[in-house]
Amino acid sequence: MSTAGSVRVRYAPSPSGYLHIGGARTALFNWLWARNQGGTFVLRVEDTDQERSSIESVRAVLDAMKWLGMDWDEGPEVGGPHGPYFQSERRARYREVVESLIAQGKAYRCYCTKEELAAAREAHNAQFPKQPFVYPGTCRNRKDTPDLPHVVRFLAPQTGSTDFIDKVFGKVSTPNNQLYDFVLMRSDGFPLYNLACVVDDHDMAITLAARGRDHLGNTPHQLLIYAALGWQPPDFAHLPMMLDAKGAKLSKRTASVAVQDYRDRGYPAQAVLNYIVRFGWSYGDQEIFTPAQLVELFSWDRVSKSDGKFDEKKFADVAFEHLKTPELTPNERYAEGVTPLLAANGLKPADTAQLYSAIATVRPRARTFVEAASTMEFYFKGTLDYDAAARAALSGAQVAAVLEHTISLVPQEGAIEAAALEAQFKAWVDSQGMKMKDAAQPVRAALTGRTVSPGLFDVMAVLGPKVTSERLRQGLQLARGATT
Ligand code: GLU
Ligand code: ZN
Repeated sequence: MSTAGSVRVRYAPSPSGYLHIGGARTALFNWLWARNQGGTFVLRVEDTDQERSSIESVRAVLDAMKWLGMDWDEGPEVGGPHGPYFQSERRARYREVVESLIAQGKAYRCYCTKEELAAAREAHNAQFPKQPFVYPGTCRNRKDTPDLPHVVRFLAPQTGSTDFIDKVFGKVSTPNNQLYDFVLMRSDGFPLYNLACVVDDHDMAITLAARGRDHLGNTPHQLLIYAALGWQPPDFAHLPMMLDAKGAKLSKRTASVAVQDYRDRGYPAQAVLNYIVRFGWSYGDQEIFTPAQLVELFSWDRVSKSDGKFDEKKFADVAFEHLKTPELTPNERYAEGVTPLLAANGLKPADTAQLYSAIATVRPRARTFVEAASTMEFYFKGTLDYDAAARAALSGAQVAAVLEHTISLVPQEGAIEAAALEAQFKAWVDSQGMKMKDAAQPVRAALTGRTVSPGLFDVMAVLGPKVTSERLRQGLQLARGATT
């Protein structure tokens, strides 16, 4: 359908205060295709619903897009040659297009009042209870143009069909007599979605409109508008839906649907992309992808029309997989994830080397950046706080002896060799007839203030000899205080 040339795709959110995870999936497919093809990704804000479209609400969507790493080439903040990119700023253009359609007899003003339409609907329903009511075309041939409130309707053909080949759904054919004289512009001069969408996709030279399949029913209306204006339509791709566990439309009543929620939970952005791309796109059995791999591998022939069920547990597993694998989340990116969370608690690693070695110890266990930051807090605290279990672990009979001996094993300076120190500790524990588990617990409590932590000797290696010794001594004091 569309002419050859470079790919121009768009994501067109209606701002609602947050980026819906399903919207992010739609944005992702467009972004991946643009990046795969070296094309242009346009962000257009469909903010004609004035009540819901505050600046903050747009901001939240832009922030979430940025956090996900989906950068746009044209749109808010970056501008571009086809702007403005806010529909609220394009009203004069929509009016101009509507006027030209009226002038050509392809659209008309409809003065029917709400009451008149309600009465017509009632009469229709009484006579044909099984058939849906459509606008009866009352104003089709009206010649006068009184200065009264009116909408503008499209003069839809009554015969034939409107057909197109969807990149995902294949051939879609709609009898024109189902496409009754739909409204293009409201009485307050605001355009309806189908009109604004066509004008913008045309003016912004969009070559492919990819959007949720909930818009499949709008596409024939849009094609009629393109035809009436003599414009070339873009290609279309409709994407399957993200449903909740019960198969209903995914909503905030049954799941966290705001991208922001996952960021707040400490999911890495790339894991969010990895999870949502599976709603429609697959690549054999492969489950885990980096954004770069997705850009490289994405193609429309791998997009299916089957809806998917959103599963927060699976989502969490994907996030964990990304966090524990250094090839997927290198130290640098891991550090970016945890540093602000540590800083929010007033904690700052001594240097990058210390932070990276701390990260290595929490990687196998932390399922989110939030968990990672909270697990590694103890490394960076000047004074440790001990939880109740740690205090208990520091008050047993042999605790002082264990801590004293551990202190004697810690080198004065240099680096702590985790494996070597562990071997020495274990030999001593055996010689005392103790169990490793019992001996390790007070040491852990002294070093971390907790009874659950990363591997004990790895912890010592990260803390270094000085802090390790200080904390063991502090633990010893507590132990002595507790037993006397
Ligand atoms: N604003 C519409 C939505 O958020 C855009 C639909 C489209 O991409 O055409 O669903
Ligand atoms: Zn009318």
